[in-house]
Amino acid sequence: MSSSIPVVLHGAAGRMGQAILRVLDERADLTPVAALVRADSARVGQPVYPFSERTLRYAGTLAPDLAASVLIDFSVADAFDHGLALALERKLPFVSGTTGLDARQRAALERAAASIPTLWAANFSLGVAVLAKLVAAAARAVPEWDCEIAEAHHAGKHDAPSGTGLMLGREVAAARGQDFDAVARYSHAGNARARGTIGFASTRAADIVGEHTVMFATAGERIELVHRATDRMIFARGAVAAARWIAGRPAGRYSLEDVIFS
Ligand code: NAD
Repeated sequence: MSSSIPVVLHGAAGRMGQAILRVLDERADLTPVAALVRADSARVGQPVYPFSERTLRYAGTLAPDLAASVLIDFSVADAFDHGLALALERKLPFVSGTTGLDARQRAALERAAASIPTLWAANFSLGVAVLAKLVAAAARAVPEWDCEIAEAHHAGKHDAPSGTGLMLGREVAAARGQDFDAVARYSHAGNARARGTIGFASTRAADIVGEHTVMFATAGERIELVHRATDRMIFARGAVAAARWIAGRPAGRYSLEDVIFS
């Protein structure tokens, strides 16, 4: 266990945080050394693994002398700045799957890569990494067809459209040589469809883990590329694999593609 990589988890109380703690518990090569929750959370001080020999407890702050080699952040957009600041302060490689980031936060992530290794992904599943490649190929093959992106998630999701939906839209725009922000349409209300735009639709219901459909349509036919996640453990395993991969690397901006396809 001595060579095991010490991991700080930011957002430990959430759905993804809990899934990541389960994955870390299964792996000997990584050890959770801090499970950070909101400072006012009722979990602070509670054991993370109550039925195990592990003694880790949820914490609202990071102990100043704690040794760690990587920080994983799956929180909310409002808490992302705090997670990134911790990683920068402790010089920890930073792996994040938090979505709903604004332009300022994306720029801060970009700047951070000058001092620490960073890896942010809207979706940590292998299936969506493959879907993104298929979507880009389809967009290149039928650049004139209408493109619509539909996504569905659980009722507790904060941001819409999903980070994955936006990422897929950016793939389409890049493959067509378009400026994504200029062609993205988040509602068709009151307007006929303008050619060359990329439309988004979001469904929020019950416990849906995550579904994405990218449709390319022309008169008389259409293509639909679909990914359905039925278990958020796929994202947790992907994020933990990324943390394992990034620990010890030099500062720089890395992508999930570097982990999966390199
Ligand atoms: P969630 O709402 O269940 O959990 C978010 C957690 O962050 C909550 O427990 C909240 O209390 C906590 N939090 C808020 N402020 C905090 C702070 N200052 N310090 C520590 N924790 C804090 O959401 P979730 O389903 O776990 O998703 C988390 C994020 O990951 C969302 O942005 C979601 O869209 C994204 N997500 C990404 C992927 C991916 O593969 N990249 C997959 C699923 C979800």
